[in-house]
Amino acid sequence: AVVLALAAGTTACGSRPGAASGTSSADASGALVGISMPTQTSERWIADGKNVSESLAKLGYKTDLQYANDDIPTQVSQIENMLTKGAKSLIVAAIDGTTLTDVLAKAKEQNVKVIAYDRLINGTPNVDYYTTFDNYEVGVQQATSLLTGLGLVDASGKKVEGKGPFNVELFAGSPDDNNANFFWTGAMDTLKPYLDAGTLKVPSGQTKFEQAAILRWQASTAQKRMEDILTAAYGSGKKLDGVLSPYDGLSIGIISALTSTGGYSKGALPVVTGQDAEKGSVKSIIAGEQYSTIFKDTRKLGEQAVKMVDAALKGQEPEINDSKTYNNKVKVVPAYLLKSVIVTKDNYKQELIDAGYYTEADVK
Ligand code: BGC
Repeated sequence: AVVLALAAGTTACGSRPGAASGTSSADASGALVGISMPTQTSERWIADGKNVSESLAKLGYKTDLQYANDDIPTQVSQIENMLTKGAKSLIVAAIDGTTLTDVLAKAKEQNVKVIAYDRLINGTPNVDYYTTFDNYEVGVQQATSLLTGLGLVDASGKKVEGKGPFNVELFAGSPDDNNANFFWTGAMDTLKPYLDAGTLKVPSGQTKFEQAAILRWQASTAQKRMEDILTAAYGSGKKLDGVLSPYDGLSIGIISALTSTGGYSKGALPVVTGQDAEKGSVKSIIAGEQYSTIFKDTRKLGEQAVKMVDAALKGQEPEINDSKTYNNKVKVVPAYLLKSVIVTKDNYKQELIDAGYYTEADVK
């Protein structure tokens, strides 16, 4: 089996004939795998799609990679189309984790193996495996970097006494994305002692997920919310010290609001967090504007998803390292969780450049 897989990898990628069904590895390696990604408006999903389809092709699989433009009906019809084409497995990063029940029931009828990619698919029994990052930990890291940026925690993670109070505002991700809740919970658990002690204050008073959430992770919505908050709660010279932002795209919108409505200069911005280490935001971090991001190595995630598909199609058990966290309200989905890293100006070279994720030119 190993020999066949390697041989397939050295031929014209992904175009091996004979996508026959069956359980022998030779058959599995020619099978069609549908890859359904949410949007191309964010670099990370473009990298995810590319990594996954290239690695599948190396193993001899055929691939159908589709982006759904953040539109739910588009994602559903793209997946239907993959099933019509005879896909044997699906790798899906859902736009709305609850809207795929019907199409995945069809997938089940065709005995298709379904892998939830990065975002959990909710409310269906028809999701076989899940690979993602430790999403609660991502939230902890976002909040920790906010605390470090404010000087409330030192580089070794130790609490610094006698500082503050600081004014902060809080943003959350899209309410239909299961991850958004995990990020928020991880962050709020970390910030709670500081909020309770009054070391951190939220002048807008908006401390609930529903108030902080930004539908579909839209930068323009985050910008508008930040502008409204600045206008309503930061009159008469009140200073904003930090913003918890769960995604680089939102951070860009937030920073725009801070420099326009807020009147902050780029060199003296509040501490703004992020996620995904997108190139534009890494540049902003290097320039001293955005403070931090969370790096999630999409190469590793792609690799893990591909291993899952390969094992599942060969009738083997994919490797799992979590079987309790991700309850999709019908079942606990067996998962493989990866680790993320806080990135600031101090360690971007080591984490992103030395690790080969970006070249220095990418972020100059
Ligand atoms: C992903 C994040 C990303 C966000 C917006 C989440 O589901 O886990 O990495 O920042 O979607 O695209």
